[in-house]
Amino acid sequence: MKPLTEREIRTAFVNCTKGEAKRLSVPRDLAERPWDDLDYLGWRDPQAPHRAYLVTELDGCPRALVLRCPSPAPSRPRRGMCSTCLTAPTGGVSLMVAPKAGKAGQQGNTVGTYLCSDLACSLYVRGKKDAGAGARLQESLTLEEKIQRTVANVAAFIATVTT
Ligand SMILES: [Zn+2]
Repeated sequence: MKPLTEREIRTAFVNCTKGEAKRLSVPRDLAERPWDDLDYLGWRDPQAPHRAYLVTELDGCPRALVLRCPSPAPSRPRRGMCSTCLTAPTGGVSLMVAPKAGKAGQQGNTVGTYLCSDLACSLYVRGKKDAGAGARLQESLTLEEKIQRTVANVAAFIATVTT
């Protein structure tokens, strides 16, 4: 994806108030992120590890989500499969819950998905980060097809948040 600025990220949030989007923690090292290898940028709030965020680009427009998730527990990671990148990393997956956008969210409605706990799906798909033995399925898909599937899964999740 193309590099985004802090301002672009803050204005891209679809499921929190403008005030929250202004205050939430955005990584300071945006310039050093491996944007070329990212289908989405995901990060945890260093002050509140049960909060995570992700931003991606849909039809040329940045879209970002606020997510709630259990704090990472490195001692007992949940070795499940990520619904986005279909990896079962040794670092575990977390159920990430997004408040729905708009009125539905204000009324407490949420949608959830299992994501790699470290939000590094893009790097696992590309083999840029080691997910551990047996973490990736043997598939006949090309890398390009796996990337497209990851992008489509993120887009589908955002669609469930915004509709
Ligand atoms: Zn993943």
